[in-house]
Amino acid sequence: MKNINRLTALSLFGAAIATFTIDPQTADYGTLSSFTRANRVLNATVEAMGGQQALRAIASTSLQYEADTRLRNQSAGPNGPWAEQTGRGQIAWEEGGSYRARVEANFRGGARFETTQLLVNGKGYLRNEITGQWTPMSATEISIVESGTTSNVSRAVPTSLLQSALSNRSSLRWLGERRDTNSDVLGFALGDGTIVTMAIDRSTHLPQLWESVVGDPVLGDVTSSVSYDDYQVVDGVTFPHTISFKLGSETLTTWTLAEVSLNHDLDPDLFLPPADSLLGTYEPAFSPVQVGEHLYAMRLFSGFSNSYNILLAEFEDHVMVVEAPLTDILARFVTGVAQSLFGDKPIRYVVSTHYHADHLGGFRGYVANGATLVTGRNTATQARRMVANQSILQPNPLQGADPSIQVVENELTVDEGLQARIIQVGPTPHVDDLLLIYFPESKVLYTGDHFSRREDGSYGPPNESLIWLANKLEELELEVNLFVPTHGAPTPIEDFRRTIAEE
Ligand SMILES: [Zn+2]
Repeated sequence: MKNINRLTALSLFGAAIATFTIDPQTADYGTLSSFTRANRVLNATVEAMGGQQALRAIASTSLQYEADTRLRNQSAGPNGPWAEQTGRGQIAWEEGGSYRARVEANFRGGARFETTQLLVNGKGYLRNEITGQWTPMSATEISIVESGTTSNVSRAVPTSLLQSALSNRSSLRWLGERRDTNSDVLGFALGDGTIVTMAIDRSTHLPQLWESVVGDPVLGDVTSSVSYDDYQVVDGVTFPHTISFKLGSETLTTWTLAEVSLNHDLDPDLFLPPADSLLGTYEPAFSPVQVGEHLYAMRLFSGFSNSYNILLAEFEDHVMVVEAPLTDILARFVTGVAQSLFGDKPIRYVVSTHYHADHLGGFRGYVANGATLVTGRNTATQARRMVANQSILQPNPLQGADPSIQVVENELTVDEGLQARIIQVGPTPHVDDLLLIYFPESKVLYTGDHFSRREDGSYGPPNESLIWLANKLEELELEVNLFVPTHGAPTPIEDFRRTIAEE
């Protein structure tokens, strides 16, 4: 019986094989046919864009744009509507070489940035266009600018992407077609190994959009896409004049290109690094500075656009960390510094002033190790989303957990060998829900985004947020000697008063 069964099975197996006759000379899993088809589509696209010679000949690009941006992580609250921002930029780069971008941005509450980023010979510099001060970029800032799509437009335009595809032809695969958008879908690798998916219009042969997968602290793994519209011929190359950036299904920014030029001689001065004598210096990252009794301020990273101060407060038998910027990885470094300062006292509280990603993005690592998140109602809503999401690229240390979150409706005082008053002061001009953290013994106030000092030491004109803070101090009768903002250096009260008086 057993043998008969085996024979039947063998003969069935043989029959199955017989129906899939594969010529061993060409056997593959679709690799070759998909590669061949993708390269055929790419060839038509390259022709539609102006031809391989024209694309390969692009040595420099410069463009100006106006941007409409929806600030998902910088609005009044985490449920929208998102604050809208209009800005403009001017960008020039040499293919595979130097890069210069001048960008403007305005945030809720009046904070305003106007900066130039310059990447040249592996180094990076930032110029504050309001004060004229240059500063060197840290390695982290350089890599963020280089790898971003909105921060490095040379990665976002089809001319650069198609040059990558031409240089990596062996990575090309035809992934399928989309009938609703009438497109062929290709996959290929960029020079740095990033895999992108590109949709090509079957009638015009022009790229419609490209996508990659990114890990987002709130949304988890999500598609980041760049789409193109309004193609016009510029210097012999077909170039889109509308570029939109999306995360998942949401459009975050749309650029309208005003002026595009290819291969026009760029002013060599554009890419001239500033003289050393013009460059400011930074405090080293992760080195805590004592700002009061049992109180340490610590800079995460160095550099202007990555200047985030957190505060470490030592209580009788535990530690409080004020602010959890950006990403969970940072919790590990901060915990190490806390151990070197306070021995084995555990971090019992992590306080986040408001829901913006640069204040909450890194809270999960602390809570996974036993801390309680202390924050406002809106921020707690956002925090719960961050606990629920799933991500392969940014693993969620709290996934599926029931996190310990304490919501501060009015005020919470921690008084154990050191006093901390955590005060709900929202709504403010910056955000609907905001905590200030006040340490009465040392008269230190952690201000979140309500007083950002520029990296070069200047303050700029008093904005709505600053005036609001001055009034709030009077109303709450807080006596303050030192402000610790999230962004920029800790600031004595006299400097704050002087800035307010300049109004
Ligand atoms: Zn903020």
